[in-house]
Amino acid sequence: MTIRTRFAPSPTGYIHVGNVRAALFPWLLTRQQGGSFILRIEDTDRSRFVPGAEDLILDTLEWLGIDWDEGPRKGGSHGPYHQSERLEIYHTWAKKLVEKGLAYADPYTPEEVQGFREEARALKKAFLYRDYRPENPPEWDGTQPLRFKVTSPKRYTWNDPVMGELSAGPEALDDFILIKADGYPTYNFAHIIDDFEMGITHVIRGLEYISSTPKYLSLYEALEITPPTLVCLPHIMAPDGRKKLGKRDGAKSVTDYRTDGILPEAMLNFLASMGWNDGTEQEIFSRQELIDKFSLDRVQRSGARFDEKRLLWMNGQWIRQISLDDLYQRVESYWPQSAAQFDASYKHQVLALVQDRLKTLAELPMMSRFFFEEPDVNWELITSNKQLKKLSEGEIRELLKTVHDKLAELADWNPETIQETLNQLLEITGQKPGVLFSLIRIVTTWAPFSPQLNDTLALFGKDKTLSRIASQL
Ligand code: GLU
Repeated sequence: MTIRTRFAPSPTGYIHVGNVRAALFPWLLTRQQGGSFILRIEDTDRSRFVPGAEDLILDTLEWLGIDWDEGPRKGGSHGPYHQSERLEIYHTWAKKLVEKGLAYADPYTPEEVQGFREEARALKKAFLYRDYRPENPPEWDGTQPLRFKVTSPKRYTWNDPVMGELSAGPEALDDFILIKADGYPTYNFAHIIDDFEMGITHVIRGLEYISSTPKYLSLYEALEITPPTLVCLPHIMAPDGRKKLGKRDGAKSVTDYRTDGILPEAMLNFLASMGWNDGTEQEIFSRQELIDKFSLDRVQRSGARFDEKRLLWMNGQWIRQISLDDLYQRVESYWPQSAAQFDASYKHQVLALVQDRLKTLAELPMMSRFFFEEPDVNWELITSNKQLKKLSEGEIRELLKTVHDKLAELADWNPETIQETLNQLLEITGQKPGVLFSLIRIVTTWAPFSPQLNDTLALFGKDKTLSRIASQL
């Protein structure tokens, strides 16, 4: 069997890490097994439609390298790939159900349905529309909602490759809406028709769909369609692990992470690790390794915690892992403005020094500005430094004088000779590296972070190094 999987986002707003993981897992499975990955836009909820959201989704997938075989921007033999362009298909299937007596027009107003709901609540009963099913519904003329008729509510049992054997009884089944009064289908109806018409073999989606699965199974039965393999992925939990990740829990849109300079490799790696591991301690996986190693039976059942620190750590690992030339291409738009007047060779050297310290590309200005412009002097960096605040201002200026004069004697200015001089300075001053080197680092960069001291000074050159120290004497 050649597998066909799909990602079926709704263009309702920004694209969240959870949305993308629901694309990644079926994509990995498909690329591993050599099937087709289909992208379908579920745009039938007109009240939640956000213009531009679809492009954002497609751009994000492209950025991550999650490519699709059929769908928008691509075409394919099972289109159209927007649900809003498939209304006739849904209506044809709906009519089949009406003819079989398995769907009927809902004659009630939304207020009346609300009244039934309240009545059920007052009786402390779970609301089931089928308890209020009209005896003689009018003929469906397309202006009323069309409801599915559950003829024989029963227990369903199914096997979810991730969640295991599941079962739900008749109380989970109800006469749900297939086509709304506006003529658009509901998700519940449309996705079943589309998955069938598009030949989908594995439906992989978030856990929020698990409670509706019995409803889907009863509809599959009525439609005489064999259901595909139904897979639910564990929830992504907020950092505290207690609730589902929401917009307020610090999870930015994937677009924001991209702007911050998270590499697509790191984002992919991070998303894959939310709910899946290969059973070893390995944490960094390339795209190809993920494709080779992914398997549904190693997807965990319990919620996966969203941990942004881990994403940053992974990003740092990836920044270190790619070549300097590759990184140079990627940081093009991240340099501080003052870098514009410097040539590529100097910028390459700067980048080589900061490469293994960057956690995001957006940190580049903070990590490199002092290579391109005179930094603003900020003595607070000295007075608030744990090691340095023990020294008086006089002692500090005296130390700097010694450093200045010793470095001034150095004829051959390179990382090795500078390091030797710095070591000699430790002996001469009797200070620890934590004190002396921190001080030199601060007065030459005035930045909270900087690369290794000898390399930094070597790249500044002797004149700049000495003049920055001299300005504080
Ligand atoms: N349109 C649904 C969503 O965005 C898709 C669910 C599914 O994959 O079937 O949540």
